[in-house]
Amino acid sequence: MALADDIARVLFTEAQIQDRIRAMAAQISRDYAATAPLLVSVLKGALYFMADLSRAITIPITIDFMAITSYGDETASTGAVRLIKDLDEKITGRHVLLVEDIIDTGLTADYLLRTLRARDPASLNICTLLDKAARRIVDTLPIQYRGFEVPDEFVVGYGLDHRQLYRNLPFIGVLKPEVVSASR
Ligand code: 5GP
Repeated sequence: MALADDIARVLFTEAQIQDRIRAMAAQISRDYAATAPLLVSVLKGALYFMADLSRAITIPITIDFMAITSYGDETASTGAVRLIKDLDEKITGRHVLLVEDIIDTGLTADYLLRTLRARDPASLNICTLLDKAARRIVDTLPIQYRGFEVPDEFVVGYGLDHRQLYRNLPFIGVLKPEVVSASR
């Protein structure tokens, strides 16, 4: 049985995702021209987005990664976040763009922003592929670039997982309810 058989509905196809990323990258290339920004992303969910976005950007950039504990194997946010891997580079005086897969309640991004802001970057903004705005708790996030708004449903694919699976789907979709309930 193929991984894609567990998907009830495709929200964004591979072509739609890539088109949107090209447009976001063009905008970032214009906005950050001559600043050599640092793109920071969070493992593992933003891995594919970071890879495609950074390759579509046409100005000099550097990239760095953090890893945090997020939902664990659950599908509901606790807001509790722990840093497992910190950045390799110093960000003081740098123009930093936090590259996120999805912003849901915003609690994770808010924690990351506070951590990064304490290191005095020249600027700090967010680029998120998906925005689940209906569930936002923290509404002060500097989201400068957003790919797509998503409904209040649990989505997988293109980096996003359910129990560590489905990250390698090239599209983004909603899981069949029986798949979610069978794993509870
Ligand atoms: P927040 O702290 O904004 O509520 O949650 C952010 C994190 O929750 C994301 O980085 C992601 O790991 C996880 N998350 C939120 N919504 C979804 C979703 O629909 N699907 C998946 N796979 N993860 C999600």
